Amino acid sequence: MELQITAIKNGSVIDHIDSEKTLKIMEILELSSAKEKVTVAFNLESKALGRKGIIKVEGRKIEKGEMEKIALLAPEATINYIEDCKVVKKEKVSAPDVVVGTIKCGNPKCITNFEGAPTKFYREEDNYRCNYCERTTHKNSINLR
Ligand SMILES: [Zn+2]
Repeated sequence: MELQITAIKNGSVIDHIDSEKTLKIMEILELSSAKEKVTVAFNLESKALGRKGIIKVEGRKIEKGEMEKIALLAPEATINYIEDCKVVKKEKVSAPDVVVGTIKCGNPKCITNFEGAPTKFYREEDNYRCNYCERTTHKNSINLR
């Protein structure tokens, strides 16, 4: 595993992704249209997760906003920052307490699903509560807009 992590020279490695969320994270980070070299693996064995995914992005740092999106989909993910083939920083993703414009409300009658209004959710332990209709969404069943 150490080999896989250090296989890029400079960039970011997103590790410990819930395997099923790996491609979704590719999508929200718009990596399929990125200029950077991207390596993706999933269905890798993981003691903690059963199956995990890894995304390696050459020459790019994962920004804070991107990290928050990753955290919403894969709360167990860690990000390794690589410089000169070494892990210089390892960070567990953390979800923000207030999420604006990212989560889609699960209530089909919610105003945010009609008028294109930006959504706003408050984190309450394992749930996110919609600011407009009060509907809560469990952290494991979040849909992003
Ligand atoms: Zn709502």
